[in-house]
Amino acid sequence: MIFLLFITGLVIGSFLNVVIYRLPTGKSIIYPPSHCPNCGHKLSMLELIPVLSYIFLRGKCKNCKADISIRYPIIELLTGIIFIINYIYISDLIILAAGLVFSSLMIVLTMIDVDHQILPDQLTLGGLVVGLSFSFFRTDITFIYSLIGVLAAGGLLFLIAFLSKGGMGGGDIKMMAMVGSFTGPVIAVTAVFLGALIALMAHLPGVISGKTGMKTKLPFGPFLAVASLILWFYSEELFAMYLSLIF
Ligand SMILES: [Zn+2]
Repeated sequence: MIFLLFITGLVIGSFLNVVIYRLPTGKSIIYPPSHCPNCGHKLSMLELIPVLSYIFLRGKCKNCKADISIRYPIIELLTGIIFIINYIYISDLIILAAGLVFSSLMIVLTMIDVDHQILPDQLTLGGLVVGLSFSFFRTDITFIYSLIGVLAAGGLLFLIAFLSKGGMGGGDIKMMAMVGSFTGPVIAVTAVFLGALIALMAHLPGVISGKTGMKTKLPFGPFLAVASLILWFYSEELFAMYLSLIF
């Protein structure tokens, strides 16, 4: 079962690569079929096998020998690994399904924000509807709790955006509202603070060396997404650690 889920993760990861590459540019996700961006060579079934095809082709297009980005197999592997972690932590099938969708959304949003500094509505608002829908069938959260998650996390980021006078984008607000629909208010609000903490640590070297000024625009989305994913798996451990620090 765990092996099957890993393979599924690799295949889904391959699809996530397509979404990351095509969605922000407005291209269709389904058509045309996968091809080399350099020469247009249409990929055969063998060349579509995740990770392995990259190794066999030694990272080059079979037709024009152009380099294939190492990012493709990395995203595929990462998706496979995160799918397994979901399986290890979640025994309920519906919650596991929600976890796989949630994890995929976080991976895609992180990469698109890194590439284009945008968080597309199809993923944030679309994901929010999916998150709310899951709550009807989940045994761990109710629809009301999911809805409070949307309002609390979205509201908190709206407040931060308002106070910082546009220091945070509308995409961040919608993304955290979506996270709230999957996790409820406690984890989503904690994710905002954890995301800010990770962002601070990541940018500290730049600030100290003077490379990052106060006016530098820093994407916050990837940090929020990583924090949300960490808390999706380890909220209990982190809350316990936090309490033991206080008392
Ligand atoms: Zn090619």
